[in-house]
Amino acid sequence: KRVVDDHERLEKEIKELDPKVADIKDFQHLPLSEPTSKGLDASHFKTLTDIQSKAIPLALKGKDILGAAKTGSGKTLAFLVPVLENLYRQKWTELDGLGALIISPTRELAIQIFEVLRKIGRYHSFSAGLVIGGRSLQEERERLGRMNILVCTPGRMLQHMDQTAAFEVDNLQMLVLDEADRILDMGFQTSVDAILDHLPKDRQTMLFSATQTKKVSDLARLSLKEPEYVAVHEAA
Ligand code: ADP
Ligand code: MG
Repeated sequence: KRVVDDHERLEKEIKELDPKVADIKDFQHLPLSEPTSKGLDASHFKTLTDIQSKAIPLALKGKDILGAAKTGSGKTLAFLVPVLENLYRQKWTELDGLGALIISPTRELAIQIFEVLRKIGRYHSFSAGLVIGGRSLQEERERLGRMNILVCTPGRMLQHMDQTAAFEVDNLQMLVLDEADRILDMGFQTSVDAILDHLPKDRQTMLFSATQTKKVSDLARLSLKEPEYVAVHEAA
């Protein structure tokens, strides 16, 4: 009963949310689910950083996001909060398979994202995993099929898409490309293009990059649909 009420409240609040006028400074003033609000609170996140207050309301409205923001500006929550909310609002369950994929340039960054996800997502019931190599493909493969949210590096993810027969991505709702400029600088362009080929076109995508290069805008054109551009130039 409570969960049903939470969904009804959210749908109403998000309908009324106008990102063009909203200037929301505190997480408690965003239309968020109870589990996310509790997770943020328990992790001591209270005030939004600049990139978060620009990106999150638009993303909650379902927009694709092209974000420009330096290291340290708080991009992780800018995409993790919308990921959790998107799946929660769709009442995503274990049976629905992979709902969100987050691509990061390095294993270290992927692990950091995963740790933040575990913290703020602790009151949700989604399953989440890391796909960064370092253990056998077979071991990773066995866990993959049960995951709702994956944080990955591009090379390893593509390896699974090519080699893991039962790995389903057809239900995917949300794609995040974090540090897109670094992903491309590290030579992952072909891998990312191939991953995009595997993913359903009807999804929400958020792409973040510290710098806006030609390669990044090519990737943005390939991966985003009518994106909202959000930028901040000061570190939070
Ligand atoms: P980026 O990905 O842009 O480099 P991060 O998401 O890693 O930035 O965040 C940088 C630091 O700021 C982290 O230590 C994180 O915990 C902290 N941080 C992020 N958002 C907030 C917030 N809303 N309130 C307080 N600290 C935050
Ligand atoms: Mg980051």
